[in-house]
Amino acid sequence: VLTRKPTNLAVATNPAHEITILESDIPEPGPEQCLVHVRATGICGSDVHFWKHGCIGDSIITKDCGLGHESAGIVIKTGSNVKKLKIGDRVAIEAGIPCSKPTCDYCRTGRYNGCPDIIFYSSPPVDGTLRRYHAHSEAWLHRIPDNVSYEEGALLEPLSVALAGIERSGLRLGDPLVICGAGPIGIVTLLAAHAAGAAPIVITDLDEGRLKVAKSLVPRVRTVQISTDKSAQNIAEEIKSALGQEAKLVMECTGVESSIHSAIYATRFGGTVFIIGVGSKSMHQYPFMHASFREIDIRFQFRYMETYAKAITLVSEGLIDLKPLVTHRFSLEQAQEAFEAASTPAAKAIKVQLLDD
Ligand code: NAD
Ligand code: ZN
Repeated sequence: VLTRKPTNLAVATNPAHEITILESDIPEPGPEQCLVHVRATGICGSDVHFWKHGCIGDSIITKDCGLGHESAGIVIKTGSNVKKLKIGDRVAIEAGIPCSKPTCDYCRTGRYNGCPDIIFYSSPPVDGTLRRYHAHSEAWLHRIPDNVSYEEGALLEPLSVALAGIERSGLRLGDPLVICGAGPIGIVTLLAAHAAGAAPIVITDLDEGRLKVAKSLVPRVRTVQISTDKSAQNIAEEIKSALGQEAKLVMECTGVESSIHSAIYATRFGGTVFIIGVGSKSMHQYPFMHASFREIDIRFQFRYMETYAKAITLVSEGLIDLKPLVTHRFSLEQAQEAFEAASTPAAKAIKVQLLDD
């Protein structure tokens, strides 16, 4: 084994809402698996949520549980049946492994993100990929070319969410688009929609700093800063005036109920509100009559499927530049600081990553 560091560290949380660094054995890859030295992992809002709140829906932290699912690294050992990958290959890790059985309707019909038996790393009780050494099925490792860094490789995970949403939304060249929320998901959605030729594009956020980041990445984007003391209809008027028309498509990347209301009011007859954001409330109320009388499609995205190959091509061919998204870098040993930076608005982080070499 080409391990340069003797200890396997994993960053975890527990029912006491602590960030802990656990030492464990270096796993032995199964016959179909590769052992990966994870070199970069991004912190996602869900990792912070598991730490602070101990659960997301029915997924509950009842014991130590490793975090992280946005990872890339290098193959350092291969199982006996591994066919395509070899030691030294640099890979992005796709963190959800569906059952892939022919008896599974979702896997068989190409909707594998709906597989009821999917194993998603960092969804308790399954540990995450925010660790030094991780054994992963070869089929769900995606080789990245030399011109894609480990940091970018880890960002292919949030980019996958945006690509899956854009694919299903039916976005076309020249479609007037609104993106609600300029967090990491809103920003990767902006980068992807810009590359896909949406025009014009408006992005919203409460935070002026995040809108400035969006504008610095895509200068042609029009920004609308949201103040929550205004009504959803008034906010929609501001969005439409910035767009110069009603939206054909709104990609909603906050999951916040009031933002979805403005999204619905800003959409044209027959348009679509495509909701990627999840937020934290399990029940929402929507302007039913308005959406009904205007034939507005309200649709949702759950993770992604079949996105990694495209994501790698878009980054390596230069259509999408993910590099500026990483604003904060820490070592595994600095996990506590990393999670503080990811959860403290004053840190002004877009994406915090933990790196290992
Ligand atoms: P984030 O919290 O960093 O970003 C959300 C942004 O929305 C913030 O910048 C916030 O200021 C802004 N915001 C909040 N209320 C707003 C409002 N009323 N109007 C406009 N902007 C508002 O989160 P993120 O990592 O960018 O993720 C965004 C959402 O996507 C989250 O809800 C997350 O759970 C969800 N998500 C969904 C999937 C999926 O599979 N569907 C995958 C990953 C993330
Ligand atoms: Zn399945």
